[in-house]
Amino acid sequence: MAASTEKQIPKLREIIYSAKNAVFFGGAGVSTESGIPDFRSESGLYHARQIYGKKPEYLLSHSCFAREPELFFRYYKENLVAREAKPNAAHFALAKFEEQGRLSAIVTQNVDGLHQAAGSKAVCELHGSNWRQFCVKCREKYSLDYIMEQEGIPKCEKCGGIVRPEVVLYEESLPQKEWNDALRAIKRADLLIVGGTSLAVYPAAGLLEHFCGANLVLINKSETPADGRAQLVIRDAIGKTLGAV
Ligand code: ZN
Repeated sequence: MAASTEKQIPKLREIIYSAKNAVFFGGAGVSTESGIPDFRSESGLYHARQIYGKKPEYLLSHSCFAREPELFFRYYKENLVAREAKPNAAHFALAKFEEQGRLSAIVTQNVDGLHQAAGSKAVCELHGSNWRQFCVKCREKYSLDYIMEQEGIPKCEKCGGIVRPEVVLYEESLPQKEWNDALRAIKRADLLIVGGTSLAVYPAAGLLEHFCGANLVLINKSETPADGRAQLVIRDAIGKTLGAV
């Protein structure tokens, strides 16, 4: 951990322990310490171009799914799914805060289910989850294992329709219920901790506009557009930081 971060930990601890209704809003950076690469990072972009000849924004779009499902599933299975990944210190710290009654909700843009794996209950999955799959024709539900074990395009056992992840693709809208839950939680919060996101992806990043509580804390390796608004900015890895609290 950077020396500067170490100095900020007592302040972060004080803010967290004086909050009555904290909410955590997280992005890809929360999962990178669990070995899940960020497909939007520079190396993620490079990898997609080199191996698949396209940008991740296309490979994970509704257009790609509709026009080239074989390519979509190849990229999805090889890059978005990590069944063996384990929660890290950030996931465990947040689960603990919830158990202690300090944290009322986690709003995540990740689809890996690692918050639930760490024991968190109130999780708004803005972009859906890899762990839920469904048939586009008859809506039958399937497991992640089911689609991973099928070669090429996964098909429904019952009707032959394509089975796809319940994950929000580019060009698709966010699930209404999750969005409303996230909005309600953020509006009521007295502390909002934002971690592992550069706040570049809208509309999710716009959720911050609805926060009017006392303390905004940003924990991210790089700068974000909201840094100026925050009471505390920590430029470090989220797992190490929350783990130290
Ligand atoms: Zn079906």
